[in-house]
Amino acid sequence: MKEKITPYLQKLIDGGNAAIAFQFKKRKQKKLKPKFKNPDPLGEDEKYSPVKGLVHKFRNRVLWKLTYDCAAYCRFCTRIRQIGSPEGDLSYEEIDAGAEYIRTHPEIYEVILSGGDGIYRVHYSMYVLDTLMKIDSVKVIRIGTRMPLHSPDSFKTKLFKELLKKMRYIAKRKQLLVLIHINHPEELTKKVMNVIRTIKKTGASILTQTVLVKNLNDNVDILEKLFTTLYQNGIRPYYLYRCDYEEDLRPYICSYAEEKKIATELRRRLPGPAYPMYVVDLPEGRGKIPPPLNFWKNTGSSRACFDFDGKKIKI
Ligand SMILES: *Cc1c(COP(=O)(O)O)cnc(C)c1O
Ligand code: SF4
Repeated sequence: MKEKITPYLQKLIDGGNAAIAFQFKKRKQKKLKPKFKNPDPLGEDEKYSPVKGLVHKFRNRVLWKLTYDCAAYCRFCTRIRQIGSPEGDLSYEEIDAGAEYIRTHPEIYEVILSGGDGIYRVHYSMYVLDTLMKIDSVKVIRIGTRMPLHSPDSFKTKLFKELLKKMRYIAKRKQLLVLIHINHPEELTKKVMNVIRTIKKTGASILTQTVLVKNLNDNVDILEKLFTTLYQNGIRPYYLYRCDYEEDLRPYICSYAEEKKIATELRRRLPGPAYPMYVVDLPEGRGKIPPPLNFWKNTGSSRACFDFDGKKIKI
């Protein structure tokens, strides 16, 4: 994956924003002895893809990868094998084929626009949204994006204003969620917060997903600050992920024990709606599963746990 950084992010890096530099600057990696063989750890490429771009793993919802491109490339991207390749760009015909699959599978009531970035090729995303508006069985539309963080200035362009207008129309008629990938409080600049506020005004619910990345945010205080800031601004932290098992991501994968310690401590500190579910996206697309936290560790009984104060309690 080549390096791709927007002028906005470059300015932050030049100004000394270490969290941004860490996530986007390409750096030399030590060659490690290969450990993970599967370049497609989530099994998205074949088994679950009925039509190009669609991943239908769970009965009632589909992931729709509209492109493999994004405004900037995160070094720890789970789809590192694909990002930047034009092969993932769907044509209008391919979008129509995906829509036909969704229309003929009315058990699918939620469609998740993704990629790459779900709104990077904004013309196509708008076409998809228009198409989904006409499918009655689709009740929920979720848009996965990092555009507000990669390029907040884009939202001032005519095209993105058109997208926001469309979102306002949709939010009145279906459930519209915008799921933003945010990893570090230093990403939440004034510009970013303003864009998120603008998106929220369309009537969309704003959720976030965060990846635990070694040496970036594998720290309780940093994450507490991130989730608190989001929560206080009307944004709901949704998922906290363990980094996927992909060979090129190994330098970024944290210790599992350390992650569980962090997730346990966060549950102690945060109000419920500010606390994202810590999940492991199981290999081969077996789902996002929440690991047991340390409240249940070493109690000597499956019917005992530790409370917030560390006192052993029988349930
Ligand atoms: C993550 C994911 C979803 C959405 O799962 P939720 O638990 O509803 O957030 C849907 N389809 C695929 C293929 C996914 O990877
Ligand atoms: S924005 Fe998302 S899809 Fe794009 S490179 Fe970053 S993590 Fe990957």
